[in-house]
Parts: sequence; structure tokens; C-alpha cells
Amino acid sequence: MIVVLLGPPGSGKGTQGERVAAALGVPKISTGDVLRVAAKAGTPLGLEAKAFMDRGDLVPDPVILGIMKEALSAPEQAAGVVLDGVVRTVPQAEGLARVAAEIGTQVDVVLLFEIADEVLVSRLSARATCGACHSPVAGRQPGETHAECPVSPKGTLVRRVDDEPESIRNRLRVYKAQTEPVVAWYRANGGNVQAIDAAGSFADVEARALRAVGR
Ligand SMILES: [Zn+2]
Repeated sequence: MIVVLLGPPGSGKGTQGERVAAALGVPKISTGDVLRVAAKAGTPLGLEAKAFMDRGDLVPDPVILGIMKEALSAPEQAAGVVLDGVVRTVPQAEGLARVAAEIGTQVDVVLLFEIADEVLVSRLSARATCGACHSPVAGRQPGETHAECPVSPKGTLVRRVDDEPESIRNRLRVYKAQTEPVVAWYRANGGNVQAIDAAGSFADVEARALRAVGR
């Protein structure tokens, strides 16, 4: 079973995706994971990807899709896979459908984690980051000391620019502009899109996500 995860930053998609993968007994992989493995293995496509990464350039879609095809064909992925961050644009959705078809499989479920923007803004902006150890710390205010800091007893919490409300709203705008066409594409092409209400407790959201994949 191939499961594609879609959801905005802060929706818990990554953590919930791990639970879904565990329940299905399959690995959860991201584009970054797949690229790192291929680059390390030194496959021709892996080396091509590494050249882009070493220059600090984005790896082009055709290279990623070639590597994804190899990854999906690997025996470890025979039972399926949960793909996190692999599909962000319509060309990537089309490309993934094509390489899956080439190896005789398909995307079975698209899990779309949905949550109101303002919930995400308050969730993410409530997070502070320790200036010494760089760990995110939930529910604490900038200026407080990171009492449990493994690096420095004087580690002070700061708010990352990325966690400022305006910057979160910007990331959400980018996410929506990219993702809405992807969802529309799956629906128009017979995809099984399961919208998951990502508000509420971790256990509630987990139960909804597992139900959506028949677990
Ligand atoms: Zn710290």
C-alpha cells in the first residue's frame, strides 16, 4: 500500500505518518531520506543527485522520481510505504503516479491533514527555541531559561523568525497555493483522498488517520 501524506506545517502529519506506517508495518520515507540513501549508495542517479546537493541546488524532479522509482522497487518497500513530503506539486503527483505504474503499483490513499490556519498559528507561535541547544520547547515564552538544557545552564529561549505569526501565515499561504491543485488533481484522477481532521488530541487524530487506511 502506498500512502501519500499531505498537510500544512504544524498539522502533526509527520508524527501521525509514523503511526500509520507502524500500523501498516511499512517504512515512512521522505524525499530527503531517499536522496541521502541513494547518494551514499553511489548509484548513478544518487551521484547525480549528490552533485546538485553539494552545489546547494535543488535536485530536479526527474532525478528525484528516478531515485523514488528505485526506492519503491526495493524489497524493503514491497509491502508498501508512507511517503512524507514527496508530493508537493502537481508535476510531482503526476510523476509519482507514472513511476508507480511503471513498477506495477499505485498510490492507494492520500491522507490530507486539515486544520484551521489560526490553530496552526497559535500552535507554532507558542513554540520557543533554545539559543544554546537549538531544541524547540513547547509552551514556554521567549526570554525564559531552558532549564533542561543539555548544552548550557544559561540557555535562553528565543522565538525563531519562522515561528513568528506573520511568517507562519506566509508558509501556510505557500502550502495552500501548492497543495490545493495537488488535491484537485488526485480527485480528478480517481485518487482516494481521505481528509483527516487534524485538530484535537494526538490519540483522536491518530484514530482518524488509522481508520482512513483501514486499521
Ligand atoms: Zn537548551
